[in-house]
This record gives sequence, C-alpha cells and structure tokens, in this order.
Amino acid sequence: MSGITRKCEMKTEGCEMDLTRIIEPLCSWYDRSKRDLPWRKDQDPYHVWVSEIMLQQTRVEAVKSFYRRFLQELPTVEDLACCEEDRLMKLWEGLGYYSRVRNMQTAARQIMEEYGGNFPDTREKLLKLKGIGAYTAGAVASIAFNEPVAAVDGNVLRVITRLEKDPRDIMKQSVRTEFDRRITEALEKTCGGSVTSSSFNQGMMDLGAGVCLPNAAPLCGKCPLASFCSAHEAGVEMDYPKKKAAKPRRIEGRTVLLIRDGDRILIRKRGKKGLLAGLWEFPNPEGHLEPEAALSFASGLGLEPVHIRALAPAKHVFSHIEWHMTGYEIRVASLGEEAEPPYVLIDEEQVRREYAIPTAFSAYYNWLADHRQNTEQDV
Ligand code: SF4
Repeated sequence: MSGITRKCEMKTEGCEMDLTRIIEPLCSWYDRSKRDLPWRKDQDPYHVWVSEIMLQQTRVEAVKSFYRRFLQELPTVEDLACCEEDRLMKLWEGLGYYSRVRNMQTAARQIMEEYGGNFPDTREKLLKLKGIGAYTAGAVASIAFNEPVAAVDGNVLRVITRLEKDPRDIMKQSVRTEFDRRITEALEKTCGGSVTSSSFNQGMMDLGAGVCLPNAAPLCGKCPLASFCSAHEAGVEMDYPKKKAAKPRRIEGRTVLLIRDGDRILIRKRGKKGLLAGLWEFPNPEGHLEPEAALSFASGLGLEPVHIRALAPAKHVFSHIEWHMTGYEIRVASLGEEAEPPYVLIDEEQVRREYAIPTAFSAYYNWLADHRQNTEQDV
C-alpha cells in the first residue's frame, strides 16, 4: 500500500478507497454488457497487441476495418517481422503515428529471435519489447494470459479520480504508477473464478468508452460503480480528472504542391528521422507561398509549369505541432521519364495502391482522387 492511506469520508476530496470493492461489480457488469469487438473473438496475444496499439490513436469504430485488413495481410507475428517496409507503412496508412508500427515490427523481430516466435506471456517480459509500455504490457498480459496486472490508461485515470475525487494532476507519472500498483494489488487479492484481470481491465475500457465519458457528462445512472463514487455523490463528476493544461502546439505553415503531368504525380520519401520519418509525401515547402513563389519552386525542380490552381486550406494536428497548409495543383508540361532525386514520378493510381501518404496530407490526397480528370484553369 502507499505511504499515505487516506481513510476518510467519501465526500472528502482525495479519499483513497479500497479498490478490491470495485473489481467484482465491474467484472460482472462487463460479462453482462461487453461490446462485441473483432479483437475479442479470441485471446490471441498478437490480436490483443495489434488492437491495443491501433486503439491508442483511433476510435473503436474506425479501428475495426484497419484491424481486419492488417490481420488479413499479416496474420502472424512472423508475417509482421518479415513485412517489407513500404507495404507495412501502406497497411498503417490512415492510422497515423507510424513510429508505432515500426516499433511493432522491431518487437515482432525480438519475439522471433528471442522467444522462437512464442509471444512473451508476462508483463515483465512484454515490457522488454520495443514500443510496449506499462499500459500495453498490462493489457496484453491480462487479456491474453489473465495475469493479475493493471492496464492504466486515460479511462482508468478518469474513473478512479472520479471515484475518489482525486485532485492530483493525472499527467503526472507518479499518479499513474500509484494507480497501477494499487489496482494490481487489488487484482492479486481478488481474481479467481469469473473475476479476472481480463474482465476488469476490459470492463474499465468499456466503462470509460460508454458510461464514464471523457468529453461529456457521465451516464452515472448506468454505472455499476455509482454507489462507490465520491464525485457522483457530490454531483461534481465533471470536475475530475484534473489535468494541467498542455503546452500550446507550435504552428507551422506549409504549402502542399500537387505537381502533375497527366496521370503521374511528383512525390518524395521523407528522411529516416523526425516527423513522419520514411513516409511518402507531396512537396510541401515551408510557409504559405503565393502562386508565383509556388511556380518558382516547381521551376526550381527543373519543371515547366503551365497551370496552377489554389486548393482549399487544410490543417493537421500532430501531438506537439500543427500544420496549417495552403495548397496548389500545378500542371507541368511534362515530367519527363524520371524526376530529380529525392523526388519520384509515380502513376497516381499506383500511389493510391502502394504508397503510404500520411494522414496529414489527406485533404490534398482526397482532392486528388476527386479530380482525376483535368479541369485546370490558367493563372
Ligand atoms: S458514477 Fe459516474 S462519475 Fe462515477 S465512475 Fe460511474 S460514470 Fe463515472
């Protein structure tokens, strides 16, 4: 137990409750009302892992189709370990945070080399794999192997801080570590029979997604933990969790250029390090270029622009940066047989099929798909 055991009335802010009390009610609620999700058809650790990594960045509904496609193409850890880079990036297209799938491939190779292809079956071993942190290790260990360990994510932080009216900043690692330890201790004491760490952790996920909501009033009338909840008792559910305001993101201006000659388009591969490393992109010089400057940029690549048209502005939000983009379609006389490296000329249909273009460019990528026929205008 922690050094500070806050035994006090429920109405007092920050009372530490005995978490063993919530485990059985949450497990039985989960067993009655769990969501039917594709990755819950079995307890295969590879399936659990893939779904958990995808769910860290994308809504459940959207993940379903990505998950099915990913497993259809790469049904085993070995397939993931051996997958060629561009194909892997293409499979992850639309999910963003490409470093996550690169880490998954490194981890898959570790599993092949260090564990003979058998998925490590404890949280401790899982934590040694590239890209697997406390939450994912806890989720895989509990769901696939029923190890009594916590999987503390934003849902758990929200639910527990509301249950206890805990005023601490949930962005602090010390708070997460404490919750992890307390939940793990409670699971170790309680699990057995139908009360499992798998049901508890997935119950927290479902409770956070459908009842104890992050951005709307929680549906306390449907909550299996309402009778334990200090915030609900005091009618202050929305005051928790407490979270220090994040630093404002850095704004970067970009000008995205769709440089085309008939059916082909100019793209290039980004460098091996930094934002969107190793992915394909449309040329996107910094700043908001006027049409003349955009044409000069194209001329500087040795091209002969003949038409330009302005495209709608777009915005993409990364974790610490926002791109505010202007865009142009530039038609050129002919792109010739080959482009100057690092640029390459690719048939637009082939880009769609084989090249991973990051979601940051999706406004322009989608525009391209809608404008296959030339409806250009002179500038
Ligand atoms: S009672 Fe309401 S605020 Fe408390 S855990 Fe349940 S849904 Fe969340």
